[in-house]
Amino acid sequence: MKFTPAKPPLTGETLDSLTARLREHGEPTFRAKQILEWLYKKRARTWDEMTNLPKTLRTWLDETFELIPATLVLNKQSDDITDKLLLELSDRSLIETVIIRAQQDGVGVENSRKTICISTQVGCAMGCVFCASGLDGLKRDLSAGEIVAQLLQVCYREDARTPRAKAELASFDNVVVMGMGEPLANYDALIRALTIVNAPWGLGFGARRITISTSGLVPKILQLADEQIGFRLAVSLHGATDAVREKIMPINKAYPLAKLLPAVKTFSEKHGRMITLEFILIEGVNDSIEQAEELCYIAKDLHAHVNLIPYNTVESLPWKRPVEEQLEAFANVMRAAAVSVTLRHEKGHDIEAACGQLRLKTEKERAVPEQETNAQL
Ligand code: SAH
Ligand code: SF4
Repeated sequence: MKFTPAKPPLTGETLDSLTARLREHGEPTFRAKQILEWLYKKRARTWDEMTNLPKTLRTWLDETFELIPATLVLNKQSDDITDKLLLELSDRSLIETVIIRAQQDGVGVENSRKTICISTQVGCAMGCVFCASGLDGLKRDLSAGEIVAQLLQVCYREDARTPRAKAELASFDNVVVMGMGEPLANYDALIRALTIVNAPWGLGFGARRITISTSGLVPKILQLADEQIGFRLAVSLHGATDAVREKIMPINKAYPLAKLLPAVKTFSEKHGRMITLEFILIEGVNDSIEQAEELCYIAKDLHAHVNLIPYNTVESLPWKRPVEEQLEAFANVMRAAAVSVTLRHEKGHDIEAACGQLRLKTEKERAVPEQETNAQL
């Protein structure tokens, strides 16, 4: 499910692919480095800002590439903590990128640590019953250029506020691939995008600060374990037994725990780093003490960190967040077993920060006729 834009985005080019393209056009190959430096270090937003390039080359670039394939249509700020960017792509699809600031004592909000949450698909095909992203199924995969563009849009948004931008560094500390979509179902574009984000000629952002979250596509977890670049892995478990997990995550039928957990172990052994198990707590579904105990066994066996996330309610879905005492009781079982655990109190609840909700709302308000949307794909 691909969308082919009229002009490929510059943000999807690697140093090699851009060099090859320039060579074909009869340009000296050092231009590729210059162009990417304008894009990622100096954050040029128009071709004309690239003043050390000849005018004829700028004209050709403009005719050949789209500089950045995502436009900011809405910046919804809930409080000092969370910022949500709604971005529109060339086919009018909407995606969201979230900026989450850590609260740190004695540090102003602008200098606090920032985690950026990016999307990899428009919609999602995995059908997890609690998730807003998958409600309308998968519309399409994002291209590598569209994935990278989200981080550049964050840089544009944040550069004016952060001293690090002056040193031409990315204006954030961590990237989590936890927005809309299943990243490992769009594997090639994901890896190409993160390679660009990581490369010295790209955003130069460390792989150890990039976490990919998956609902558990076993073959792709194993493929990721073999990649040269060591990204971090988070697994959306949400059920500590097959009986509970398969009720809420259809993927558990194809890849039950007996297949998933060994694959996660292989990944963590190859990379020698702690992986994260995410566990959203939904009232009466997976929040029992028995589930907490099962989760302890799994986490200990994998030497994994457990991230407990109180469920964020989604309009039109029946699921609820457990009461505070239940959340604490669940976390206490893990603490008593000496499992590394955080009980994350959802940030940005008031701006529909949970997966896919802002986009869903805007899509509804704008009510794009179905035919028009399909015709553009
Ligand atoms: N598809 C990938 C990554 C995107 S979802 C995955 O499933 O891991 C990112 C995380 O948000 C997942 O752990 C997902 O289960 C969780 N999530 C989805 N809907 C949520 C909700 N309403 N409240 C809290 N977390 C939610
Ligand atoms: Fe897709 Fe992740 Fe939502 Fe499941 S939780 S539907 S995999 S985005």
